[in-house]
Amino acid sequence: MIDEELRGQMVNWRRQLHRHPETAFEEVATARMVAKTLRELGCEVHEGLGQTGVVGTLRRGAGRSIGLRADMDALPIAEFNSFEHRSEVKGKMHACGHDGHTAMLLGGAALLSRDSGWRGTVHFIFQPAEEVAGGGKVMMEDGLFERFECEAVFGLHNWPGLPLGRFALNDGPMMASFDTFELLVDGNGSHAAMPEEGIDALVCASHIVIGLQTIVSRRLSPKEAAVISVTQIHGGEAWNVLPDRVVIRGTVRCFSADIQQRIIELLGEISESTARAHGAIAALSYHYGYPATINAASAAGVAAAAARATVGSDSVTVGIMPSMASEDFAFMAESRPAAYVWMGVDGKTPGAPLHNPHYDFNDDALSIGASYWLNLVKTFGEYS
Ligand SMILES: [Zn+2]
Ligand SMILES: [Zn+2]
Repeated sequence: MIDEELRGQMVNWRRQLHRHPETAFEEVATARMVAKTLRELGCEVHEGLGQTGVVGTLRRGAGRSIGLRADMDALPIAEFNSFEHRSEVKGKMHACGHDGHTAMLLGGAALLSRDSGWRGTVHFIFQPAEEVAGGGKVMMEDGLFERFECEAVFGLHNWPGLPLGRFALNDGPMMASFDTFELLVDGNGSHAAMPEEGIDALVCASHIVIGLQTIVSRRLSPKEAAVISVTQIHGGEAWNVLPDRVVIRGTVRCFSADIQQRIIELLGEISESTARAHGAIAALSYHYGYPATINAASAAGVAAAAARATVGSDSVTVGIMPSMASEDFAFMAESRPAAYVWMGVDGKTPGAPLHNPHYDFNDDALSIGASYWLNLVKTFGEYS
């Protein structure tokens, strides 16, 4: 059980991290604090995996091996809060609650270090750069699961909009993939008063943007969820000149590799054929970002059972609408059976949403999260 001392310690860790936010691959002080705390709890500690990642290991005889993952990075957002533990770093803040995730996993390590009711090996994975730079992928490339064998891996995110004391998950897709694309539309520049002398890349690009809207609405099944958003159009600098080139950029989100491939084909097909109709040329560059986060049914069963043991059966929902946002836990989930859960944080008065400059992790959730990690390890052991 969580006593007042550990509860207070988690609040202190969380607020200390909140005061000193560090963004992607700069989590040096955060990693140092995590490593120090894990050592004090009796873990074997490995630093520098995936640049600033930390792995702590607890062993308790023979048994299954499990990975528990938290993210440590902050965001490049200027904090608007005025409370005492507000960010002391200009232009950076923990607006996604990774300060809370880190404190809860440390709390879970503290509970497991003093509990004799489990067997096996637990790897506490503290990853850098979740937000933009794919720190989870970098840890994997650095040999995370070769060096720390995990039969399954589990992740958690605080979820504004879900009441405190509730968990929600799926035994399938949880978060969408996140890719980006760029289309270069090459026409032929001319005087704006004499369009017949050139090929208007701007009009062509406009048709392409409209055409891309038909991929989700007309070309994919209505039963498939996908988003294609054009977020940038760059072209032209003068009132009276038609530019040679227009650059279109955007993002693609979906839940399966098949749909992703179909979208890539259609992005190319629609942009190239539209450009041809205008006498222009379109070239597509597609960048794979984060894959979709898909829970394995077996691991989701363990996570749901652990959540029920933590907050009661009535407070755990299995079967929710997945989010079109993305999560780099997906890289770990591609490699091992995995489950990622949302943990409620809304008190009587709901706080600000994720990535908002008023956001602050709800400290009342810390004990729930740490207990979930303890229950997860115990439940996982029973499922062998
Ligand atoms: Zn975030
Ligand atoms: Zn986050």
